[in-house]
Amino acid sequence: MSEKTKGQKLQKELAYKKTNYYEVADEAERQAIFGYAKGYMAFLDAAKTEREACAFAVAAAREKGFTEYRFGDPLRPGDKRYFVNRGKSAVVFRVGTKNPEEDGFRIIASHIDAPRIDIKQNPLYEDGGMAFFKTHYYGGIKKYQWTAIPLALHGVVVLKDGKKVEIRVGEREGDPVFYINDLLPHLGQEQMGGKASAVIDGEQLNVLVGGLPYDDKEVSDKIKLNVLDVLHREYGIGEEDFLSAELSAVPAFGARDVGFDRALIGAYGHDDRVCAYPALTAVVNNETEHTVLAMLVDKEEIGSEGTTGIQCKVYEDLMEEIALALGANFRKVRFASKCLSSDVTAAYDPNFAGVYEKMNAAMLSCGTSMCKFTGSRGKSGSNDANAEFVGEVRSMFAREGVIWQTSELGKVDAGGGGTVAKFIANLNIDTVDLGVPVISMHAPWEIVSKADVYSNYKAFLAFMK
Ligand code: MN
Ligand code: MN
Repeated sequence: MSEKTKGQKLQKELAYKKTNYYEVADEAERQAIFGYAKGYMAFLDAAKTEREACAFAVAAAREKGFTEYRFGDPLRPGDKRYFVNRGKSAVVFRVGTKNPEEDGFRIIASHIDAPRIDIKQNPLYEDGGMAFFKTHYYGGIKKYQWTAIPLALHGVVVLKDGKKVEIRVGEREGDPVFYINDLLPHLGQEQMGGKASAVIDGEQLNVLVGGLPYDDKEVSDKIKLNVLDVLHREYGIGEEDFLSAELSAVPAFGARDVGFDRALIGAYGHDDRVCAYPALTAVVNNETEHTVLAMLVDKEEIGSEGTTGIQCKVYEDLMEEIALALGANFRKVRFASKCLSSDVTAAYDPNFAGVYEKMNAAMLSCGTSMCKFTGSRGKSGSNDANAEFVGEVRSMFAREGVIWQTSELGKVDAGGGGTVAKFIANLNIDTVDLGVPVISMHAPWEIVSKADVYSNYKAFLAFMK
């Protein structure tokens, strides 16, 4: 039965089917997939906050001969530069040989902030023989998922004299970790009967930070005082210094292979470092004729606001400064520019099949996933990319043999979400979302496929070619 029927031939010719990347990857390609994952996992462990991801990007760029750019610097083709915005976001870019007014910029935009538990400005208290930090969560989380797991503390404390103290506790072997208490099931009858959103309330997300009383009968709040004493001895900070601190509790566990076959990666913060790392490595490691920018931005998880979110004028200013330095008209440049807004999407999960529309859901290991539109309730709040641009990107991927797919975030009216795409598109830059499918997105530990991470990297290379 080797001879195909007319119908079989027609089916092969006309019908579309997603491809599992692992299924078509030969031995060399599989090795490339697994090798690339190692670098990505090292990045995940080194960069658990936007500040750390920014520092990692700068170090990776410097290692490849990139130098810091400041507004007003002259630029010429072949230049390799990076721009740092307040230590919390970075744009790594190469100046190409093509005429920017005709060719525009090729932009890959991803975010380096991730959901977490932020420490409040007046956080420390003691009760019940324990000391705690009060917190306010950052980004959209299922609060109950963040209890009863080891947490690390990352961030900075700015002292009265402006000196900045960096804190990173809970990552090294032997470091103490922190914890958010949960209720024992024996007494959880009422708790377990409530709505999942109310199982743990925002003001119950208190981080356990101590239990040892200060040795002095004459003082009250001895455990709190002892924590303050330790903090003062180790970091030189006092209670008032929390007023100007940015501290976050993040999962203390590292990135690990998942599954007997090691096809998957479990880690904190895949959203969106799984797009940021490929964006960074694509631009840092590969020469191109285009002017390319890898934008690693902050604050996406809370609406892209503020001085480090993509809505800030600083990114538009930067692009305009680059255009100016190259003697190009910025309006022409941005009209000719193209952007991949690279953010994660939800991978189809058979355990929760009801919220997905299977034909249009991203399938794990079927490659990086393009969302023509995001948003919710009738595509509201979405950059709905035009078919012409989608077609152009599609042909780039076909030319370079990228395994990719399209997807929609869940069933119509099941919920929804947004990305930075619309803010870049609003600048008159053709933009479409493209990123890695994630299982358990926004959980303290999320899952992605190594094949999809590498596919995302290859997609960026195709976009830069
Ligand atoms: Mn994201
Ligand atoms: Mn997110």
